[in-house]
Amino acid sequence: MNKQILLLLLVVNTFCTQYIVYGQGKKSEIATHESIRLETDKIFERLVQIRRDFHENPELAGKEKRTQEIIKKYLLDLGLQVETDIYGYGVVGILEGAKKGKKIAWRAEMDALPNDFPDKSDFKSKVKGVQHGCGHDIHMAIAIGIAEVLAKNKKSLHGTVYFIFQPEEETFAGAKKITENEIFSKFKPDEIYGLHVTALPVGQIMVKPNEMFAYQKEIRIQFKNTLSAEEVKELTVKIRNSLVRSKNGSKPWEIQSITDPKIGLTNPNTIFKDYLIAEENFRAYSKNDVFRIDAEVYETDAARLKNIIPTIEQVMKDNNYASHLLSIMYIKENPTVLNDPNLTRSSINTLDNIYGKGFVTPDYGQVPYFNDDFAYFQQKIPGVYFLLGGSNFEKGIIAMNHAPNFEVDEECIRTGVRTFSSLLFQKGK
Ligand SMILES: [Zn+2]
Ligand SMILES: [Zn+2]
Repeated sequence: MNKQILLLLLVVNTFCTQYIVYGQGKKSEIATHESIRLETDKIFERLVQIRRDFHENPELAGKEKRTQEIIKKYLLDLGLQVETDIYGYGVVGILEGAKKGKKIAWRAEMDALPNDFPDKSDFKSKVKGVQHGCGHDIHMAIAIGIAEVLAKNKKSLHGTVYFIFQPEEETFAGAKKITENEIFSKFKPDEIYGLHVTALPVGQIMVKPNEMFAYQKEIRIQFKNTLSAEEVKELTVKIRNSLVRSKNGSKPWEIQSITDPKIGLTNPNTIFKDYLIAEENFRAYSKNDVFRIDAEVYETDAARLKNIIPTIEQVMKDNNYASHLLSIMYIKENPTVLNDPNLTRSSINTLDNIYGKGFVTPDYGQVPYFNDDFAYFQQKIPGVYFLLGGSNFEKGIIAMNHAPNFEVDEECIRTGVRTFSSLLFQKGK
């Protein structure tokens, strides 16, 4: 046998071995995601029942006692290690895969809202004045579902998955407190993921790198209580108008437009890309000799945040009220959800590889009015926050969070469990 042929045979042999190994890897990967799909379908009805139980028994921020007990029992039954000494009524379920890998966290919120809106469902809230109007009941059902699906695939699972059930999201306290807790530094996940169900079409998954929402700030303007009611009204309108910037006269405050294909989040020229808006209702009230105006503003561009206070000062000056002005300050400055660009891109690629190109819908805008304390986790570890569609327009179901008619198509639980079980499975490697 001459040397060249030997070399050729060696090359062919190496190539074939690699091809076979790659082929088998791909094959076992397909089998895993098929098993995730089947397992999700098997538990779907049960997850719907779990969600409805949470929906009927909502608990406000700081009071998630029953919710905690139910989650804890479920995770223990799945064989997960459970920690509750994390903050408030929080629960962390720890699932160890049989194979070596990364430490990945998944976050789901637990609290409900102080609402009393009419609810046409058969599983209405049994607690007067408290409702799951943000969809956290859906998030918990999805997280429980992912825990179950991944627990059943434990033998092929790489790394450790931490299921963080977080209390007190609506008050923006829970995530911050958890990240400050010693136990969190002990877990020290490498990456964190989470989602929010919202008014997009059911099952649609949307994400973008960096800011998912506009920066949310609450300003307090204080001036001497010497202006007439008419003057205050006029001044308020002027301040509000000075705090509006939108593309070509568009109306980014009309949040229902986020799903509009021409101007909504999926369009690269969306009106939700570059704006500054102030909420409609300024809260104006007097206290002793001081008149206060409190207002929430939403700015998409971090670099322009520094212009907000000087803009208001200018309005006061232009209208000869400068001598009445006492102070302008921020009374709320929450961090905003910032998706790690590399992890966002790799997550989109992973999901598109498993479920087909275009499975994840690109998001080009920043949603106004909303924010999530998931931002605190992202300050500590890189993470990605997804939006999951829960609306079914044909059925008249619109999952606009906090709105009086908020309703969710429960099919999104199936999409959420299947998709993110696959993602976390791949991310652990
Ligand atoms: Zn909310
Ligand atoms: Zn929420």
